[in-house]
Amino acid sequence: IPVDPFDLVIFGGTGDLARRKILPGLFRRFCAGQMPPSARIVGAARTELDHAGYREMASEAIKEFGGTTAANSDKLNAFLDTVYYVAIDALGDDGWEELQELCKEKNRVEAYYFSVTPALFGDLAERLHYWGMAGPDSRIVVEKPFGRNLATAKNLNATLAAHFDEHQIYRIDHYLGKETVQNLMAVRFGNMLFEPLWNAQYVDHIQITVAETVGVGGRGEYYDKAGAMRDMVQNHLMQLLCLIAMEPPARFDPDAVRDEKLKVIRALDPVLPHHLMRGQYEADHSDEKAHPSYREAVEDPRSKTESFIALKTHISNWRWAGTPFYLRTGKRMSARSSEITVVFKETPHSIFGEDAGRHRNVLSIRLQPNEGITLGVTIKEPGPGGMRLIDVPLDMTFAEALGADSEHVDAYERLIMDVIRGNQTLFMRGDEVEAAWAWTDPIIHGWEERGEVPKPYESGTDGTTDSHELMRRDGRKWREVS
Ligand code: NAD
Repeated sequence: IPVDPFDLVIFGGTGDLARRKILPGLFRRFCAGQMPPSARIVGAARTELDHAGYREMASEAIKEFGGTTAANSDKLNAFLDTVYYVAIDALGDDGWEELQELCKEKNRVEAYYFSVTPALFGDLAERLHYWGMAGPDSRIVVEKPFGRNLATAKNLNATLAAHFDEHQIYRIDHYLGKETVQNLMAVRFGNMLFEPLWNAQYVDHIQITVAETVGVGGRGEYYDKAGAMRDMVQNHLMQLLCLIAMEPPARFDPDAVRDEKLKVIRALDPVLPHHLMRGQYEADHSDEKAHPSYREAVEDPRSKTESFIALKTHISNWRWAGTPFYLRTGKRMSARSSEITVVFKETPHSIFGEDAGRHRNVLSIRLQPNEGITLGVTIKEPGPGGMRLIDVPLDMTFAEALGADSEHVDAYERLIMDVIRGNQTLFMRGDEVEAAWAWTDPIIHGWEERGEVPKPYESGTDGTTDSHELMRRDGRKWREVS
């Protein structure tokens, strides 16, 4: 269904995110017929370019980052006709008059994507206001990181709130735009099967793993100031935790969903020091590329920033009291994989005797790669060998289950279309972000005060040995990363 006509201004339109995600995503939506022909995309950044120069850059980026296919490349020129550019300085007056002139048509949705460093968010908000472009219905999209602690997140919220109401602010967490994440809600609240079992009585524990194979690469300067806790746990893993643990909202609408997520964050227990493990990857010379260690990559031989973190926490409410939630994320791990695993308890009694083996149902929700949901069920081992039990997967890999025709929509393109439609369900509200920092801050202060240094872990493995010990102590183990 096409969205309403819009002007989308991408501040930072020449940057990495715009080139890799935003422009290719918009092109795919254009090809899908979702972008009305009168919609306009305006790149706005410091680089001196004219419309033609930016169209050329956009065209290259779309081809390089997977926007074009044999079936849609003939539409690229028509798409580029909707693209414009203004050279602008967020910190000065250059370019603003031209942008104002370009966006003066008012019978359309106005959206401003702040794809620049967060240090510029306040300046952009102020200048949009000053130049009369911050109307009561215009929307701003802000990227992560949203603050680096509670104080800075509060400041950022206050800065934006000076010129925009909460209903105009779209804080992106691209994990929420993933197909499986929305399917998680469909599975939980669209089936009778799962919800009655979705509590401490039947669930043994829940694991969330977000594993990357890449190192910090060229982002070392940013990453070393953040670390895995700030870069991944406070936002992405926390959002997944909320969706898996929240109470059923009364309706699938933005505030109903976000109210329930907020309650989860506020019910999170503090993390005890011995339930938290941090690591830094070591150098890897196993192939000819010779990957540097974390400390080499960030050029600080004494860096105390973690590239891996594993922790255990609890949610202190009626539904989840006593059920551990284990979270881990890291770089240079054995495979690129994001997965939520719900491990159910064993049956209370085995009628087949101990020889048949004891089994648990495991529901795994895969966000990447191969998005899909698998439920492990216990059946009889086929053959004449008596009543022996084995686990088989009920597998719903979306690409297979829904067929090759099912449309793959990248997280960014879905979220941008939601901005144009004015749907905030998959965006973080200001109080959610603050609550997440309020939980994160004392954890970080704790390890800083104790002067803890992350432990080294071998590249290509699944983190520090003590993270496995964390599970072993509880008689559990991490799901294999694959
Ligand atoms: P980038 O450094 O590649 O691009 C920055 C852009 O900002 C450029 O277009 C530059 O011209 C523009 N810019 C800088 N100073 C300006 C000024 N004074 N006035 C106007 N424009 C100015 O950055 P990026 O990687 O594209 O990241 C943009 C934002 O998105 C950041 O907040 C980042 O944290 C966030 N983000 C990026 C990624 C990613 O994959 N690149 C992922 C998640 C979040």
